[in-house]
Amino acid sequence: SGPHVVVIGGGYAGATAAKYTRLFSEGKVRVTLIEPNANFVSCPISNLVIGGIKQIQDITIPYDNLQKRHGVQIVRDRATAIDPEKRVVKLAGGGEIGYDRLIVSPGIDFMWETLPGMAKPGAQDAVLHAWKAGPQTVALRKQLEAMPDGGVYALSIPLAPYRCPPGPYERACMVAHYFKKAKPKSKVIIFDANDDIQSKKALFLKAWDDHYKGIIEYRPKHRVVDVDAATKTLKFEFNDDFKASVANVVPNMRAGDIAVQAGLATANKRWCDVDFLTFESKAVKNVHVLGDAIQIAPAMPKSGHMANQHGKTCAAAVVSLLMGKEPPALPLYANTCYSFVTDEDVVHVASVHRYDAEKKTMLTVPGSGGVSARASELEGRYALAWARNIWADTLA
Ligand code: FAD
Repeated sequence: SGPHVVVIGGGYAGATAAKYTRLFSEGKVRVTLIEPNANFVSCPISNLVIGGIKQIQDITIPYDNLQKRHGVQIVRDRATAIDPEKRVVKLAGGGEIGYDRLIVSPGIDFMWETLPGMAKPGAQDAVLHAWKAGPQTVALRKQLEAMPDGGVYALSIPLAPYRCPPGPYERACMVAHYFKKAKPKSKVIIFDANDDIQSKKALFLKAWDDHYKGIIEYRPKHRVVDVDAATKTLKFEFNDDFKASVANVVPNMRAGDIAVQAGLATANKRWCDVDFLTFESKAVKNVHVLGDAIQIAPAMPKSGHMANQHGKTCAAAVVSLLMGKEPPALPLYANTCYSFVTDEDVVHVASVHRYDAEKKTMLTVPGSGGVSARASELEGRYALAWARNIWADTLA
């Protein structure tokens, strides 16, 4: 009995929303979480697995506690369709689940149509993105281990907005750290579709100069328009083709398939417009969208830290709406993204965002936030503590 909230996707946003809907309603709202994966695998810290500093087990957390401690019912399946008239979600396994309110948090999917060569058989096993943590994280690590010394690892970055602005530059550091130790004749080349480094520019440039001189090379304004996966060749809009030993292509991305297919991706058919007070979709009533899938307000990154706070804001709003009350106080978020530049040294960027009632959007609080003065081992400890805390807050 009681109202029923269904959550699609148990990532940083969805798992948090599921847990906090149970907590804020004191168990009065039933919650069902639909998630195909057996375990949560964290993208934050996954670059350390690629660098050989951590193992995949270190970033893998079971969903058990959501069920055992919080009474969230977990359905291990994939949502394939949403019927907002009947308020029903259809499952790949054939079933259907009815809802009073639906929370859609599928993260991102890739715009493969922008890389035609990646549709060839086997292409997506040969050239990896590793931009969703899991099997690809492990497979990319294996490709790097198998690469002969003297090889080139090419990492291509799509035009912003993409999931985790500093993530690619951290990944370059982690691969270079591995090469410096194990394959000193090898190189990392970053092909960035953007005009410049998207986050913590001075700190990354300093780290590359201090630790990876002659290993990391950065080439801005290199937009990959196709890939020949068989020869690991990147094709650019304006520049010559580049043949890598290991090609790691992060494709253009948009809201997860289910959100696009359900008509929620109203911004350029890519991201989902929401009301930032409740995260209710601007297109479909009683459906809320969270996390990387939304059209973010200016300067708000697509981050796990943000997604977790979307989850709490949405949970509070959904519980209020189901109980016939006004949604609670205006949201105020903090964001911190840590990046490892060596196995120990870390840099951060932080910001604070407040809801502006007049403009109806989230605005960066003037004077808030900033970046590290320098990379440090102390911030390395903070970064790992951040990860443990957010995993506990989301899943424990
Ligand atoms: P996700 O966490 O991706 O969760 C989506 C979930 O939905 C998945 O579990 C998926 O299986 C499920 N799903 C999808 N479709 C369906 C469907 N049809 N039915 C059912 N379930 C479905 N952020 C930080 O804050 N700090 C960092 O240090 C950081 N580092 C990063 C490093 C890398 C390399 C990467 C790639 C990202 C990093 N991020 C970081 C960003 C962070 O991972 C994302 O912003 C965050 O995961 C977004 O949360 P989400 O819930 O929207 O999506």
